[in-house]
Amino acid sequence: MSFDLQATRAEFPLLALAKPPLHYLDNAATSQIHQSALQAMADHDMFRRANIMRGTYRLAEAATTAYEEARARVARFLNAFTPNEVVFTSGATSALNLVAHSFGESLRSGDEVIVSLAEHHSNLVPWQLLRQRTGIILKFLPVTADGRIDATALAGLATSRCRLIAVTHCSNVTGAVTDIAAIVAAARSVGARVLVDGAQQVQHGPVDVQALGIDFYAFSGHKCYGPTGIGVLWARHALLDAMPPFLAGGGMVGEVTPEGSTFARPPQRFEAGTPPIAQAVGLGAALSWLTTLPWGDIRRHEQRLLQALLAGLARKPGVRILGPTDLEARHPVVSFDIAGLHPHDVCQVLDRHGVALRGGHHCAQPLMQHFGLDGANRASIALYNSLADIEALLDGLDDVIEVLR
Ligand code: PLP
Repeated sequence: MSFDLQATRAEFPLLALAKPPLHYLDNAATSQIHQSALQAMADHDMFRRANIMRGTYRLAEAATTAYEEARARVARFLNAFTPNEVVFTSGATSALNLVAHSFGESLRSGDEVIVSLAEHHSNLVPWQLLRQRTGIILKFLPVTADGRIDATALAGLATSRCRLIAVTHCSNVTGAVTDIAAIVAAARSVGARVLVDGAQQVQHGPVDVQALGIDFYAFSGHKCYGPTGIGVLWARHALLDAMPPFLAGGGMVGEVTPEGSTFARPPQRFEAGTPPIAQAVGLGAALSWLTTLPWGDIRRHEQRLLQALLAGLARKPGVRILGPTDLEARHPVVSFDIAGLHPHDVCQVLDRHGVALRGGHHCAQPLMQHFGLDGANRASIALYNSLADIEALLDGLDDVIEVLR
C-alpha cells in the first residue's frame, strides 16, 4: 500500500468539511481525529454502552470485551510484552503523574531523578513535587545549543543513587528526537530505570518498547489521531506489580473491609473508578489504523514538508529557527521567533489566512529560557498536511511581517 495524501485527508471529517479550507498546523497540541476513532466511539455508545468489569449481563460483557480489545490494540501498537502492561489514563500528564506518585513512593531522600531541560512541564513539575514530598535530588540533563538533549552529559551526572532517568522521546518545541539508546545504556550502567514521554512520538508511527529497552512509556490519545480524555502508561509488568496504587476507588481493589483493603493486580490497580470506556475503544481504533499505514512513505512525505518549511522560514527576514535546522533525527515540529513580534499577534494575523498556528511557551519554559525567549511560534506537521498548508503559512508570514512591523 502506498500513501495517498488526498484519500487520507478525506478520512479526517473536520479537515474534509472545513470551509474555507483549514491549514491546521497545531498538531503537536492536538491532532485531528481519524474517522475510525469517531466511528468506533459512536458504535460503542450506540451498541455496547454499559459499565465494564462489573455487570454479568451480555451488554456489560460486550463493553468489557471492547475495552480489553482496545488494551490489546495499544499493546500491539507499542509491541508490549503483554496487554497487562498497558494502563489506561486520561492522558500523558496523568500517566507521568502516576509514575511520579507510585514509583516515586519507593524513592528516598537523596535518591536521584534525572530529567532534561527540554521536558514538557508534565514531565518536570511532577518530579519537582516528588522532590518536595520526599527529598529526592532532581538533576538536569543539559541541551545542546540547538536544543537537543545531550545524552553524553549523563556520564558525569548519573551516580549510583540515580533511580530514574525521565526524558521526552521527541521535543514538542524543536522536534528533536532523543537518543534513547544512549539514555538506556547510561541508566543501566548505574542501575536506574528509564521513563520516556512519547506524547510527541506516537503520531509519527508505531513504537517498539521492547526494542527501546525502556521501563515506562507515556502518551496521549488526542495527539495521535484519537480521542481526548484518554492516554496510556506502559510499564514492565514487574515494575507495575511492585507499585502502590495512585488513585483509589472502585475497580482497583481485591477485598475491602472497614480495617483496610487489598489491591487488584495491574493494570486494574491503576484504573480506579469508571474509565473513559468509549475513548479507550476510539484510541484502540486509531492505533490499529496507524499500525496499517505505510510509514516509510509517510516519513518521506513529512520530511518533504519539513524541508520546505525550514527553507521557507530561513528566507524570511528576522526569523530565527529554534532547534535543529537539518532533517537528521527529528520530527516535523518547528518553533521559530520573529524578531520584534509577539507570537500571539503572529497567530492572530495567520488565523485570517486560515492557518492555525501555535504561539507561547509550549509548556516548556526551561527550554525557552535556554533559547533566551519567553515564547515562540510553532508549526507542527501531521501526516494529512500538504505543501499547500506550508505555502499558506509562508505566504501568511509575509503578511504578518508587513502588517506588524
Ligand atoms: N509531553 C509532551 C512532550 C507534550 O508535548 C505534551 C502536550 O503537549 C504532554 C506531555 C502532555 O500531554 P497531555 O496534555 O495530553 O497530557
